[in-house]
Amino acid sequence: MSFRLTYATMYNPPEAMHERFEEAMARVEAAGGARHPLFIDGADRDAAQYVERRAPFDSHLRLGYFALADAGDAHAAMEAARAAYPAWRATSVSERARLVRRVGEIMEARVYDIAAALTLEVGKNRMEALGETQETVDFFRHYADDFESHAGYVNALPDDPIDGAASHNASVMRPYGVWVVIAPFNFPLALAGGPTAAALVTGNTVVLKGATDTPWAGRLLADCIRDAGLPPGVFNYLSGAGRDVGEALVRHPHTSGITFTGSVPVGRQLMQQMGSGAYARPCIAEMGGKNPCIVTEHADLDRAAAGIVRSAYGMGGQKCSALSRLYVHERVADALIERLQAQIAAIRVGDPRRRENWLGPVVNATAYANYRQYADALRSSGARVISGGAQLGNHAADPALANGYYVEPLLAEAPLSHPLWQQEMFVPILMLHRYRDRDDAMRLANDSPMGLTAGFFGSESEVPWFHDNIEAGVTYANRPQGATTGAWPGYQPFGGWKGSGSTGKAIASFYYLAQYLREQSRTVV
Ligand code: GLU
Repeated sequence: MSFRLTYATMYNPPEAMHERFEEAMARVEAAGGARHPLFIDGADRDAAQYVERRAPFDSHLRLGYFALADAGDAHAAMEAARAAYPAWRATSVSERARLVRRVGEIMEARVYDIAAALTLEVGKNRMEALGETQETVDFFRHYADDFESHAGYVNALPDDPIDGAASHNASVMRPYGVWVVIAPFNFPLALAGGPTAAALVTGNTVVLKGATDTPWAGRLLADCIRDAGLPPGVFNYLSGAGRDVGEALVRHPHTSGITFTGSVPVGRQLMQQMGSGAYARPCIAEMGGKNPCIVTEHADLDRAAAGIVRSAYGMGGQKCSALSRLYVHERVADALIERLQAQIAAIRVGDPRRRENWLGPVVNATAYANYRQYADALRSSGARVISGGAQLGNHAADPALANGYYVEPLLAEAPLSHPLWQQEMFVPILMLHRYRDRDDAMRLANDSPMGLTAGFFGSESEVPWFHDNIEAGVTYANRPQGATTGAWPGYQPFGGWKGSGSTGKAIASFYYLAQYLREQSRTVV
């Protein structure tokens, strides 16, 4: 049976999808414990140190030994990328697009094995893991198609007569050089692969730095790129790399541009660093979210509850797009809360390898401790905890949960003065407020320095009001598959306003690739 993984199949998966995932999981687990070197200049490269990593849902499950890059490795990767740049830049648009598309094809052929590794490494459930892998495949396709459809962004312009002689004019978009991609832990494949595909197809060469907690995903991407036959040095991968490697990359004189996805403080620091030096260099920073959803008294509450639960708790709230602020009209608040409670009660928390578990653990000990701190802060300062609040890991009563960072999805009605209304949490916590006046709800929804995604449930006639007034880069109205999450390349461009993004241009949008190019105006008389 053949089917394509899409957003729809993800929510209603055919049986064969489960079977293939389970077979792949058995294969990938059996191969656990391997060594994963760096990938530089077309070859594996050993690091001075390797770190052993274990699954976030089971501290006994060894994933493998991952190279810990140091500043010397970062330098070697930069040199390789610099050396490969002139020939890659000169490679034709169609050949670059072909190779980039080929990476996607290879990844698609491995989609189940890669998704199994993502479940093991990040703790996401199979649908999230398959979704992320297919999304990455689609990024490679999308950017290859997009670049070709723009004919490589070369535009002839009208001749311009000067002193009787015609000048011939053109606008040519050209790459910058070596592009550094810094990926986050929560989408270690998609948010590494997307920017990498964009940088490569536009003629830049790439050094990718994976997140400390998730070195495996980037290495699997590197394998696909190697097997697609990209020339040595065009793509290089540094895993297990901490802050000092990031610093070395940012400060490196060969770094021509950066795409960063991660926290606001790090993103802002990078923007400053890229703005200083001999001259300013581009920095595409996709940072946090503190995403709201407004529910009016005209909403379909069943659809609203489904979309809210998926977006607030999917992947344990560890998405920039996660829903964390809910504003509900007071007339429907109790009815919505009742539905939310029922849906939350039905969520199965546990080992994400198992089909029935929708919610795996949070990623590490820090996230686990943060959850406790936020839950305590809500309880102790006047919030009403409606559902959840317990840490389930190390829970003697249930040995199945004993070894992972499991927590309950939490829903709390909180006073507007509570500081957590303003703070990104990255754990499964949703705060709720009842409003009386719709414009008040909009004012509250916009009362944040962030502006990534936003959701709305109400009548059709209210939708334009929502779109026109909400300050967010990605908006969803009346969408039960996700109130604020689940953008797909080619369908929903994804990028933040205000403090959430540095450029106002969204991922996989009409304008995205242009950010990896600089314009050269060419006039010949
Ligand atoms: N693209 C994902 C979504 O639409 C979120 C990515 C992120 O969390 O950075 O839900």
